[in-house]
Amino acid sequence: MTTDLPAPPEPSGAVATPLKTSVDVAVIGAGIAGLWVANVLKRRGYSVVVFEKDTVGGVQTFASQGMIHGGQKYTLTGKVEDHAASIAAMPARWQAAFDGCGDVDLTGVAFASDSQVMWPAGGLVAGAAVLAAAKLVNAGTEKLTAATYPEALATKPKFKGPVYELPEKVMDIRSLVLALAKPLTGRIYKGEMTALLPDAQVALRHNGADIVLQAQAVVVTAGLGNEAALKAMRIERQMTQRRPLRQIMVRPVPFALYGHGIVGAPKPRVTVTAQRLNEGEYVWYLGGAVAEAAASMTDNEAIAFAAQELAEMFPQVDWSTRQWATWVGDRAEPYDPDGRLPPGPTLHQRGRVLIAWPAKLTFAPALADQVLAALDQHRLKPYFDTPVLDWPQAGMGAYPWETATWQSL
Ligand SMILES: Cc1cc2nc3c(=O)[nH]c(=O)nc-3n(C[C@H](O)[C@H](O)[C@H](O)COP(=O)(O)OP(=O)(O)OC[C@H]3O[C@@H](n4cnc5c(N)ncnc54)[C@H](O)[C@@H]3O)c2cc1C
Repeated sequence: MTTDLPAPPEPSGAVATPLKTSVDVAVIGAGIAGLWVANVLKRRGYSVVVFEKDTVGGVQTFASQGMIHGGQKYTLTGKVEDHAASIAAMPARWQAAFDGCGDVDLTGVAFASDSQVMWPAGGLVAGAAVLAAAKLVNAGTEKLTAATYPEALATKPKFKGPVYELPEKVMDIRSLVLALAKPLTGRIYKGEMTALLPDAQVALRHNGADIVLQAQAVVVTAGLGNEAALKAMRIERQMTQRRPLRQIMVRPVPFALYGHGIVGAPKPRVTVTAQRLNEGEYVWYLGGAVAEAAASMTDNEAIAFAAQELAEMFPQVDWSTRQWATWVGDRAEPYDPDGRLPPGPTLHQRGRVLIAWPAKLTFAPALADQVLAALDQHRLKPYFDTPVLDWPQAGMGAYPWETATWQSL
């Protein structure tokens, strides 16, 4: 890491484009990482603008299951792995923000659920695996009595449990994005990064028009777009990985469910979250091993597979009469030599450009800590006023189930 920044630079003119402006920090990408970091920097008194090529709320962020993980999900190998240990501190950071006394103001965030459950989802060792995971990492885990099982499990024929409840919230992602976008009103512009220099000069384009920002620092939180940023910085060694998923959506389901179906394997057989459509009707959004296996299937194969999985796990529902859709995408992550989920957020620096990956939505507070530490190391001080640009603002994104093409089995 370099230290001791020179005085804030003047625009160098290295990229020839018509409109130029100066700002303390330019943030590229308006997913959870960019929005969280921009809020924290604004609170520190830096002038900040965010540029987003598509819509506010990002790609992975709006597609996520909105779960704030405390670690249990990552203990299914029977031990506390790096990831489980580092993520365990995150729920308290989020809770402070929900309570209005954290790094960002999340008092406006709504919750799909205040907790998640773990239940045995088939196989002889599933019950033992649920118990083992429940004992690790998070002290607040509670065994539910049959009378308090979620309806999806209470109505399951011959289901014996055990079911554990984790005090880990599931957020309504749209309300999260709105809460983070509000303090940045007028500062989230529409534009795709087209050039990036280590002296924190960044060029952006929208509708054929170009703008160049000379910043004191650029923070690139562009998800998959981080790959292009690394290329622009001429960083050749492998620093990123993509892990594909095909999330499954099914509607209408008569009850909600938030949690992980455990089978004694390192990954849950299924991770279910839900969004209310109408009274007594939900859309279920399925991740976990179902979505990972479905990544290499066609849409039709994936839906047939998911329908079979659900029929086994929840035989009380007639899945043949539902509507189905999928969301296909990549988890954009820092490189892990074994291709696994990296243990925590990662920041790569080249000059005054910081390229950042949260690795999980849950890690957004820890990622912002790393960004602040890097700027402090550079002794970066607020200098420029916030520019008011004659440039369009980016619009709000949507949930996968709001834009999906639905089909029957
Ligand atoms: C299906 C799924 C479920 C998940 N569930 C959870 C969960 O329950 N809990 C959890 O903690 N984590 C979860 N995750 C992981 C989590 O969603 C991601 O780690 C996190 O959202 C990444 O945020 P981000 O801001 O880095 O990226 P993104 O949300 O992808 O945002 C990046 C933004 O950068 C923009 N961009 C890209 N290139 C450019 C460019 N050149 N110029 C300008 N803008 C650009 C993109 O348009 C996008 O808006 C899930 C991920 C997936 C895919």
